[in-house]
Amino acid sequence: MAQPDLQHRILEMKQALLDRGVSLTPRREKLLEVLIASDNHPSASEIHEGVRRYYPGTSLATIYNTIELLKETGQVLEIEFSGAANRYDGRIPDSHPHLICLECERVDDLQLPEDDGSLGEIAKATGYQIVRRRTDYYGICPECQIKQGGAAPSKGGDSTSDL
Ligand SMILES: [Zn+2]
Ligand SMILES: [Zn+2]
Repeated sequence: MAQPDLQHRILEMKQALLDRGVSLTPRREKLLEVLIASDNHPSASEIHEGVRRYYPGTSLATIYNTIELLKETGQVLEIEFSGAANRYDGRIPDSHPHLICLECERVDDLQLPEDDGSLGEIAKATGYQIVRRRTDYYGICPECQIKQGGAAPSKGGDSTSDL
């Protein structure tokens, strides 16, 4: 999964809304910018806060309403949580796995190798025709591990470095 071109994503979202007959108000445009600017899968209230910095009178209902339109047009991926606020990915709207920190609620994209063959394997083993997948991994992110006093795990399997 290559890093998506963020400006391009904003244009795609705008076009999808226009195609649906939704008028692009300055608030809605700002919402798209705030959504795309965040690299941490923002919640609706985080997006709301970002938009209100420019348009203080914006209601949370307006935010939800626009997110709903983006969902309907396949322009945002909703990451649902049962006990916490849902989060949104406008950068990569197709379903993909996430890493979720139980401490700080950070949500990272998990980059899978391009030739990941597991869907084919699952289809073979179960007889299902796989349409999409939802896989999330829960854990403690490297920064929270440092805060908890543990050593940060090194990435890439190099566990021998002396810090
Ligand atoms: Zn964390
Ligand atoms: Zn994501």
